[in-house]
Amino acid sequence: MLRISARLNRIQPSPSSMAGQRARELRAAGRDIVGLTSGEPDFDTPDNVVEAAIRAMREGKTKYTDVGGTPELREAVTEKFRRDNGLQYASTEVIVGTGAKQVIFNAFMCTLEAGDEVIVPTPYWVSYPDIAVLADGVPVFVPCPPDKGFKLQPSDLERAITPRTRWLVLNAPNNPSGAAYSRAEMKALTDVLVRHPHVWVMADDIYEHVLYDGREFVTPAQVEPALKERTLTINGVSKAYAMTGWRIGYGAGPTALIKPMVKLQSQSTSNPSSIAQAAALEALRGPQDYIRERTAIFQQRRDIVVQKLNAIPGISCHVPEGAFYVFPSCAALMGKRTAEGWAVNNSNEFVLYLLDTEGLALLQGEAYGVPEYFRISFATSMEMIDEGCRRLARACARLQE
Ligand code: PLP
Repeated sequence: MLRISARLNRIQPSPSSMAGQRARELRAAGRDIVGLTSGEPDFDTPDNVVEAAIRAMREGKTKYTDVGGTPELREAVTEKFRRDNGLQYASTEVIVGTGAKQVIFNAFMCTLEAGDEVIVPTPYWVSYPDIAVLADGVPVFVPCPPDKGFKLQPSDLERAITPRTRWLVLNAPNNPSGAAYSRAEMKALTDVLVRHPHVWVMADDIYEHVLYDGREFVTPAQVEPALKERTLTINGVSKAYAMTGWRIGYGAGPTALIKPMVKLQSQSTSNPSSIAQAAALEALRGPQDYIRERTAIFQQRRDIVVQKLNAIPGISCHVPEGAFYVFPSCAALMGKRTAEGWAVNNSNEFVLYLLDTEGLALLQGEAYGVPEYFRISFATSMEMIDEGCRRLARACARLQE
């Protein structure tokens, strides 16, 4: 019999990927499904980017590249950090991977020993804890209070740091809560980190450009330059340029960290796709104006979805500052009974109930470390959002004491 390693048995499949797959299966089986689980923009990859990829193929850019990315793309990444974030990196301080996810994976695999702690503010993107566990690390969850906009509080961060802490993962705008930090809020966090020089910072800035109401984007190494020598700043083209399928992400940090990450990548995937790298180069260096236009569309959808959700008795939804998700509470509905007579006791059961009775696919808060909440993606058409909210309202109205 095939024996699966203990390492693998310690982790779960990504709940968001599984939910997407389940919705696709049900649809294929003929069910009328409204899926609001998608973690990707519904826009197309811009034409100039697609054309750059076609050109690259025609020009024979179809061979292996440097493991950590082509010199041109790494240079373009340094330009992006200078332009958008005021951060100066050399191209030797940059790694390009197969999505931001691989960059995160590389960093944990290269730095964690058994028992090393990774502080994961909660709610969190589903993959951080599992990747840390794969690398023998121990996720330390720090709740971010809903009444403080789901933002990590400096005193809670201070309390969570131990001599075993290796990393703080800071993802803002946050998936799933949409929490983003002002410069002053970020400074309050970096002030804590300055006092703990053994802690490294993993800044996951993948939603940098999906930020609303004219807010300023800030990243830890920019707000506190003293942290730059122990910060890995991660970003990518997936969300900003609607390029999730192309699989290009990147990270910048001290060479002492980047070099081992390249070494690990050389023994796993080698370089990310040469064609996707050419496309990412065009995304970073080409026109940037559509980013703002698309974010304005996301903001309109956000306003409508928040309003619709707050009109549903039993649901309460805060206004996300960035990313394309809302993370409402269904706490008021817990313990209520369905028409069939069973009680809905947590958000796992709530989303199952919605899928069963209304064909509505959402993600349970448990997957993000916060029961009694659920995630809705509004990276989809207004028609789908309208229909999803209608179905949600109907299902909630049917629940009884
Ligand atoms: N980080 C966060 C917070 C995300 O939500 C996602 C994707 O959903 C990623 C990283 C992964 O991005 P990529 O597609 O570049 O691997």
